[in-house]
Amino acid sequence: MFGLMQDRPLMISSIIRHAARNHTASEIVSKNVDGGIHRYRYPDLESRARRLVRVLKGLDIKPSDRVATLGWNGFRHLELYYAVSGMQAICHTINPRLGAPDIGFIVADAADSVIFAETSFAAIIEAIATQTPSVRAVVFMCDRAEMPALDLPSGMALLCYEELMAAETDDYTWPEFDERTAASLCYTSGTTGKPKGVLYSHRSTVIHAMAVTAPDVFGLRATDRVLPVVPMFHVNAWGLPYAAPATGASLIMPGRHLDGPSLTALMNDEHVTMSAGVPTVWLGLLHHLRASGERLETVDRLVIGGSACPRLLLAAFQTEYGVRVDHAWGMSETSPLGTMNAPVPTTMNLAGEAKLRHLEKQGRGIFGIDMKIVDDSGAELAWDGVAQGNLMVRGVWVASAYWGQEPGSACDAQGWFATGDVATIDPGGTMEITDRSKDVIKSGGEWISSITLENIAVSHPDVAEAAIVATSHPKWTERPLLVVVARPGATLDPAEVLTIYDGKIPKWWLPDGVVVLDELPHTATGKVHKLTLRNRFRDHLERQA
Ligand code: ADP
Repeated sequence: MFGLMQDRPLMISSIIRHAARNHTASEIVSKNVDGGIHRYRYPDLESRARRLVRVLKGLDIKPSDRVATLGWNGFRHLELYYAVSGMQAICHTINPRLGAPDIGFIVADAADSVIFAETSFAAIIEAIATQTPSVRAVVFMCDRAEMPALDLPSGMALLCYEELMAAETDDYTWPEFDERTAASLCYTSGTTGKPKGVLYSHRSTVIHAMAVTAPDVFGLRATDRVLPVVPMFHVNAWGLPYAAPATGASLIMPGRHLDGPSLTALMNDEHVTMSAGVPTVWLGLLHHLRASGERLETVDRLVIGGSACPRLLLAAFQTEYGVRVDHAWGMSETSPLGTMNAPVPTTMNLAGEAKLRHLEKQGRGIFGIDMKIVDDSGAELAWDGVAQGNLMVRGVWVASAYWGQEPGSACDAQGWFATGDVATIDPGGTMEITDRSKDVIKSGGEWISSITLENIAVSHPDVAEAAIVATSHPKWTERPLLVVVARPGATLDPAEVLTIYDGKIPKWWLPDGVVVLDELPHTATGKVHKLTLRNRFRDHLERQA
């Protein structure tokens, strides 16, 4: 017997309709490319999204067509999120920090019909235009006066967003259709290989949005003012563009300005209460605050994820600025939220070192995500906080296949998706990533955690950034090598840097060498590009010998 409750499809458009009717006073504040501020409210966003659907129809966009975006976090990008998915097409967000060859590959692979681009990305459009025959038009997200002059191949129209909008009305009613319909497409940033497309559905997006608003996840309320530093071109800005309107929280969109001074000013001017982003951004903010003596006047919490959160950030924001740091883990394939480190009765009273040690872990699975760790033969390992294994996840917002592949092909018969991360899980269910399977250092057959070694290295007062890479060793196969960048104005003595490990790790984990660089290579999402470092330093010890 079925229950007798209404079976209404979960539609992304229902989020913006809800916000427009119930949260009329909440704002969307955007920092424009030119540094100016644009502000409007949810009813304006919803009305402009409907108008934009009419523009898309005028461009002959049909259900399931891919509409690409090359955009910063701002109101027009938000309008595209809702209009494209709401009309049953697929919003394909592209990471503009990738190189032109990768972007060309991604546009061709997705066979995008139209690209909406920020004027700052005109050069990218010029570089890829001849490789992307599926693209009929490029729409620059600006006024007529700001339009860049570009020579596009014939058959590719050059259009102006505000001009197209001005020619339409908002006379459109959001349709209802199967909630499993594809809504958005995002390629993984390729830390470990060629970009692969993750295709989110209306159902997965709405359920993920509802899950992340919970108190022990993002804890969003209508009175919050949320600043997504995490870009809308990377895993839908961790779902915040959906979760915020679902709760009525205001959105403060930083545009391209993500440096410490810009973020501090925007956070204080716009009374931001919550923000989310990767460690690199928060390290930049922390350095600026310490150097300038400025304070964060209204922020009460930062969500940090995407890479392991260094202890320095966990400690400094709380003790120096009274800002709580919430450590999260996830990936493009998990929409992205998988785990969050929120307190439970047994950890809520931890203090000092024990508290910091606990917060370094990535946290417990949020409701909706199943987790397990397995050995190389696939056998499940104990949740004892010691056994390390390959982390597997499943859930309604976890990918079942990549773009263009057979449904189910990215997971096993029971739906488990292999994350590529290596982790332990303690008896309380708290997961800790010790490595990515490709970054693992196996010395004499035993695993050394590169994340642990990196976290300790960045606690050195003169180290700005650190990475541990495996380097070949004749006896132990692999040994860890520490690659560091000094803080501005500091000089690093390799032997002295290693003393930071005294008493903190097993002796045999101590890196076999230290290399000081001016900067580390980063991926398009701000993570250290380990592959480049591994290739460069693979033979380091042998060359030195
Ligand atoms: P890519 O795989 O291309 O880097 P993602 O942005 O999806 O793209 O990255 C997901 C990966 O980032 C995870 O598999 C994990 O290795 C890493 N990651 C994410 N959050 C954390 C975290 N809190 N701690 C450690 N690693 C993390």
